[in-house]
Amino acid sequence: MMYIADENRYEKMLYNRVGKSGLKLSALSLGLWHNFGDVDLFENGRALVRRAFDLGITHFDLANNYGPPAGSAEENFAKILERDLKPYRDELIISTKAGYGMWAGPYGDGGSKKYLVASLDQSLKRMGLDYVDIYYHHRPDKETPLEETAEALDLLVRQGKALYVGVSNYSPEQTREIAEIFAAKKTPFIIHQPSYSMFNRWIEDGLKDVLVEKQLGAIAFSPLAQGLLTDRYLNGIPEDSRANRETGLWLHKENVNQTIGKVKALNHIAKERGQTLAEMAVAWILRDGIVTSVLIGASKVSQIEDNVKALDNIHFSEEELAAIDEVLKG
Ligand code: NDP
Repeated sequence: MMYIADENRYEKMLYNRVGKSGLKLSALSLGLWHNFGDVDLFENGRALVRRAFDLGITHFDLANNYGPPAGSAEENFAKILERDLKPYRDELIISTKAGYGMWAGPYGDGGSKKYLVASLDQSLKRMGLDYVDIYYHHRPDKETPLEETAEALDLLVRQGKALYVGVSNYSPEQTREIAEIFAAKKTPFIIHQPSYSMFNRWIEDGLKDVLVEKQLGAIAFSPLAQGLLTDRYLNGIPEDSRANRETGLWLHKENVNQTIGKVKALNHIAKERGQTLAEMAVAWILRDGIVTSVLIGASKVSQIEDNVKALDNIHFSEEELAAIDEVLKG
């Protein structure tokens, strides 16, 4: 049956401005790192994207290497666009990235102009798009001068292949430096994509200050610590969970065992707030207005529905914040 988007989709979602740009992003965005590869069920991924859009999520985040196999998430997203979302292209913000190893030889990895230009052409072909809304350098590359990486991203904007550019996983110093290069070129560099969650607070040590200083937006990836900061593991490790799957390179059973005590204590605080732990984890990221959007992943439609409910209460009292800090310290 033909997909028709929910006509009330813009009613409950919040849209936050990305730094000082003209662009707004939905307060939650959906990432296609897991669950959209050729190893996954296409119809499940399709249902996730459709439900997200129906709930007001306008931003879908990809990368050249998402799958597995690498490239297949972009191809599967193209099928979802073709079947369902093509009529809504102007209501979507689609991003992709390059920076990790993608093809053999010296030009399929890093931050060179050669790699970034060729990779975006490949991504556009795979997705069947003329342009992406945001193109990121996926991680810093010590061997390439920042000037060259910036030059490549600037060129792609001038060619109309990307509307805005961003960086991901850059340190505070690297972010400040490349922001200055982009400013001199007048490149629309508007956003940083760092990891950030209650269990991973590195951006509070300098990066948040740079984002404010340079008036950049931020989109936080792995905000639920890949599922740890939810009720997923409260009663053991479910068979269909990421920690139990071989594809979850960054999440292992040991991570669950090491954190479960804190997860239970945080779950208690969430309950007192009348939220699920996932809702509180999303709300916590939005608490100070510095992060523009929370970039969730999901394997089930119900998870997206749960996470979006976070917006019903993104306010924290001083006592709640202190109680959370206390748990995280312990
Ligand atoms: P999350 O921390 O949101 O983890 C998502 C996982 O948590 C889901 O797959 C699901 O796990 C579980 N989950 C989500 N919601 C709930 C819920 N309400 N209740 C119970 N469990 C839930 O983010 P990801 O690690 O998936 O990262 C999100 C996106 O960030 C990626 O898709 C990608 O776009 C981006 N990213 C960027 C990186 C970069 O270097 N720039 C690196 C990593 C990610 P389960 O499968 O067990 O159900």
